[in-house]
Amino acid sequence: MRVISFFLMGGLLLSFLHAGRLSPLSSEPDWKRLHDYQFTITRERFEFLLDHVFSVDRGMRAYLRISPESLTLFSDSSKTTPLFSLFFSNEFSSVRPNPQEIRYPQNPLGDRPLQGLRICLDPGHIGGEFSKLEERFFKIEEATPVEEAKLNLMTCRLIESMLLLYGAEVVWTKQEELPVTKIRPEELHDEALQWIFDLGVERYLPVESEILKRANMLFYRTAEIRARAERVQDLKPDLTICIHYNAGDWGPNPLIPKLVEKSKLVLFITGGFMANELKYDDQKYDLMAQLLEQNFEQELGLSSKISDRMKEVFKMLPEQYKNWPAVIPMKEAPYVYARNLAANRWFRGPTLFVEGPYMNAKDAYERILAGDYEGQREIQGSMVSSIHHDFALSVVQGVLDYYRQLKKPLEENRKFSPAIWNP
Ligand SMILES: [Zn+2]
Repeated sequence: MRVISFFLMGGLLLSFLHAGRLSPLSSEPDWKRLHDYQFTITRERFEFLLDHVFSVDRGMRAYLRISPESLTLFSDSSKTTPLFSLFFSNEFSSVRPNPQEIRYPQNPLGDRPLQGLRICLDPGHIGGEFSKLEERFFKIEEATPVEEAKLNLMTCRLIESMLLLYGAEVVWTKQEELPVTKIRPEELHDEALQWIFDLGVERYLPVESEILKRANMLFYRTAEIRARAERVQDLKPDLTICIHYNAGDWGPNPLIPKLVEKSKLVLFITGGFMANELKYDDQKYDLMAQLLEQNFEQELGLSSKISDRMKEVFKMLPEQYKNWPAVIPMKEAPYVYARNLAANRWFRGPTLFVEGPYMNAKDAYERILAGDYEGQREIQGSMVSSIHHDFALSVVQGVLDYYRQLKKPLEENRKFSPAIWNP
């Protein structure tokens, strides 16, 4: 074990005691930004989203004081340090429109059904020289190695070409196998150490390997996704789609990966903040910011349509989680769960996190090794299009299905808005 200097340890401990209410690599949230949401939501609607989507274990309520007219959010559960107050809209107050502008396709039943929409593609993971560090790389015996970031990019390129045909504008969080963030793991040792202290030193002795592992995670997960979130913020897309390929259990030794029998499919939408995450003020802020955007129905509707198409083309069952409170199943859509993933938490605007077939399942592995190709090929005895083509097409068709069935988009999306409109 490395000897950590007394001063560093003391300093970290002090900073933990005084400012330990922020999660690693976060800064003090700018609560003023949420003032645009005053009078934009009723109390009933707020509580519905809070209890059914965003804080299902009711952890957020420990920091909230809710009256019929307003809420106050506190930093502490003893409710002595207020962070933010919000007035609800009700029959006595005027109702303001949601400041987050939502655009819809101009003519979803026309030739260019997605015209008027800006869709952002977010191919998961960094890849390239970082694919091993981010643990998104495997190789079975002498076969070609599988790198998830490459697969995600390949699928996203096909999604782009299809979306363009349908008239959408396409933007990207990244298009290379390079990090978006300028930060590197070597710069994150102090933050990694702070994180370990925060988790409880007795559980995670700050040995060098643990510090390195957490510095890497802070790099490829926290810093990278935050950098991408800044891009999303600047690009202001109407929808962001994060594309991933999933993986099943690697077996007892991840260095000798095993293939599992069958893939399962899952899509994540924003929500599912857990009580232990909400002790951090930045997570409280993210919950409020996401809830107040009121994208829930849109994210659920889109994910549900995409999952219908994926189920049809891949014939794979939905992921089912047992005893895992971090995922909130959506009754209406068996493939969709609300979950507090970094991308869902930080990307502004409607965000869908789509997990394709398992890279290490017998029903997908051969197709993944085959890469992308034109037309159909015989793989494992059946003629199939490339897995990238099938994945991309089901995402794009799901998006089309969603917008085509929306009759009156604005009313539909605002169906829980108060009946009284008095600008
Ligand atoms: Zn992934």
